[in-house]
Amino acid sequence: MSFIATVASIASIASTAAHPVTTFREVEWAGETVHLLPDRALFWPAAQTLFIADLHIGKAATYRALGQPVPSGTTAENLSRLTALIAEHAPQHIIFLGDFLHAAAARTPSILQALAVWRAQHAEMAMTLVRGNHDSRAGDPPAQLQIDVVNEPFLFGPFACCHHPQLHATHFVLAGHVHPVCRLFGRGRDSLRLPCFVAEAGQAIFPAFGEFTGGWLVAGEPGRNLYPVGGEQVWRLP
Ligand SMILES: [Zn+2]
Repeated sequence: MSFIATVASIASIASTAAHPVTTFREVEWAGETVHLLPDRALFWPAAQTLFIADLHIGKAATYRALGQPVPSGTTAENLSRLTALIAEHAPQHIIFLGDFLHAAAARTPSILQALAVWRAQHAEMAMTLVRGNHDSRAGDPPAQLQIDVVNEPFLFGPFACCHHPQLHATHFVLAGHVHPVCRLFGRGRDSLRLPCFVAEAGQAIFPAFGEFTGGWLVAGEPGRNLYPVGGEQVWRLP
């Protein structure tokens, strides 16, 4: 399939699919088979572990507190997407690659209550948060959420779990922070921005899991693969 044809099919799927079939893309990183999920998360079957970057819980609430016109319900939406992922993959462990809470202003009673209810629904599951820059300002999640909080790099199997993209001397880095998106071109001036995974030598960078997040427009280059997420599928460029 030509590049243009690929882009056109992504665009049509992204805009028209009402109930598309959810599929994942299998890749091998650090000698391990992992699944890139269309919900902007990664599942490592051998370790039954789910990785998620940049949840930014409470970002919309933080903006609303400033009187900005942003949607409500994003925390509930994020938590229900997490619950759906847990139901589908039954992980034993979730590792958050930083920026769990967006800001100190996100610690509203309703958001903390929603998090506590959600955590209680998955009480047996281990959860680890690798501190990101937003966590440093927002503060660690409340202890009652029972999320282990660690600094980067958190070594887990062959992976160095980080928030900030970087290289590690011995481990393959999994990181977030920059919220990568890539631009796909359709016919004429038509183009589309999609969140994407970025894989290059020694590291992979995740798209932001949270809704309502901006993005770093990343270009493909030799040695770098982009995996855009659109239409409930994970694609690969080039
Ligand atoms: Zn960050």
